[in-house]
Amino acid sequence: MYLKSLEVHGFKSFANKLIFEFHDGITAIVGPNGSGKSNVADAVRWVLGEQSAKQLRGAKMEDVIFAGTQMRKPLGFAYVAITISNEDHKLNVPYEEVKIARRVYRSGESEYLLNGTACRLKDVQELLFDTGIGKEGYSIIGQGQIDKILSGKPEERRELFDEAAGIVKYKRRKAAAQKN
Ligand code: ATP
Ligand code: MG
Repeated sequence: MYLKSLEVHGFKSFANKLIFEFHDGITAIVGPNGSGKSNVADAVRWVLGEQSAKQLRGAKMEDVIFAGTQMRKPLGFAYVAITISNEDHKLNVPYEEVKIARRVYRSGESEYLLNGTACRLKDVQELLFDTGIGKEGYSIIGQGQIDKILSGKPEERRELFDEAAGIVKYKRRKAAAQKN
């Protein structure tokens, strides 16, 4: 399982539709200050369901939509899609490739898509539990996060181990069952 590609259109500084192709190995993104490197990581967080504008370095969720420049008008929506290679079927769906997409309009209307079909954020989250991928997963280690892990409370650190051990989905299901 690996990240095959990332498509952005109208997300932050990416006004044009742009597709990043990745391979099974290491990719480094380099560029001058302010050129959009961190926006690439923000796009991945966002499509995985990030709900906090602050985590995406904005004040409100609308800030993920291309706000325009002197040369170019603002856009009305932001779209991000990631394609994950699932040849090893680590994701529990019968597809070799899984495409997760999210779109939001200035009106606030938004949607998630799984392989082109509209779905709920919950469906995306359930698919990714225990894979390390979700927005809380350890597949994205942000600036300052290592410190947070090292100096965090034992319960917080435990969540990371739960995810790696693959028991988060059972804990969530138990919690949901106890609520009913
Ligand atoms: P550094 O090396 O300083 O970390 P970086 O390459 O990580 O820089 P980013 O923080 O990814 O750069 O990109 C910042 C740029 O993205 C800024 O120029 C900012 O104006 C632009 N930007 C952020 N949000 C939007 C938006 N909604 N619309 C248009 N441009 C945006
Ligand atoms: Mg940066």
